[in-house]
Amino acid sequence: MNATIAAEPYQLNWLETQWEEMYKGRNPLLVTGVFAFVMHELVYFGRFIPFLICDFIPYFKQYKLQPNKVNKASDYWKCTKQVLYQHLLFEGPLIFFFHPMATLCGMKVAAPFPQWQYIWPQLVIFFVFEDFYHYIVHRLMHWPPLYKKIHKVHHEYAAPFGIAAEYAHPLETSILGFGTIGGPLIYHLVNKQYVHAGPQWDLHLVTVLLWIVLRLIQAIDAHSGYDFPWSLCHWIPFWAGADHHDYHHMAFVGNYASTFRWWDYLLGTDKKYRAYRHRQAEERRLKEKKKL
Ligand SMILES: [Zn+2]
Ligand SMILES: [Zn+2]
Repeated sequence: MNATIAAEPYQLNWLETQWEEMYKGRNPLLVTGVFAFVMHELVYFGRFIPFLICDFIPYFKQYKLQPNKVNKASDYWKCTKQVLYQHLLFEGPLIFFFHPMATLCGMKVAAPFPQWQYIWPQLVIFFVFEDFYHYIVHRLMHWPPLYKKIHKVHHEYAAPFGIAAEYAHPLETSILGFGTIGGPLIYHLVNKQYVHAGPQWDLHLVTVLLWIVLRLIQAIDAHSGYDFPWSLCHWIPFWAGADHHDYHHMAFVGNYASTFRWWDYLLGTDKKYRAYRHRQAEERRLKEKKKL
């Protein structure tokens, strides 16, 4: 009756075992660096492929946000070269600083991974932080001296396509990139210094990598040039998506946020966009009426 039940030691799952195997006997700085870089490239170009395929299928033209503007193969090629050059020369080396920085701050790297109920609230915090930071810095980038020297590069494509997401001046990539990496860092430091919210809330490298994947997918979707009926903004009304950011490329002003609609709405920088979409909906309605 008095026998105590000894706690079973935690068994690593398949993914956690692979993760541990990846680091075993290797330089952790190199492992994290190579893994994060390859992951970044696979997600960046991989997420673009479905949109590229849509370009070749006439049926999908109805979902194009700017159907009259056609990007040529030379545009895609120029963008790919520029983006690859930048990934190898600027983002790649920065990615290699990530491991020393993470371990220096005491971020967790080893398995086990955190549980889902602790991962998703962190992801939400990172999205909200990045969006707020992006809104401010992006709006500042439209101040003429900064626009001419830095941000103009990103606006080369008035009708953007997926891989144009990171087509930007290297300085812009670094400055806006802080929005992506700063969220996890600030969360981690604030939690460690002030909140002390239990070890289950500690930031794990895997959560940061997952956040980078989601942020990349969000950025590529926003630049895709397509608004499908199944796009996220039709399910989550405050999600910006391509419908929101494509207008920014088309009109060069307004809609400065990256992920959510609330800052542009609250600060009135989406007024022209909303009027424009309203006009489009009216025109569509009249056309339908004539058909009947
Ligand atoms: Zn802009
Ligand atoms: Zn853009």
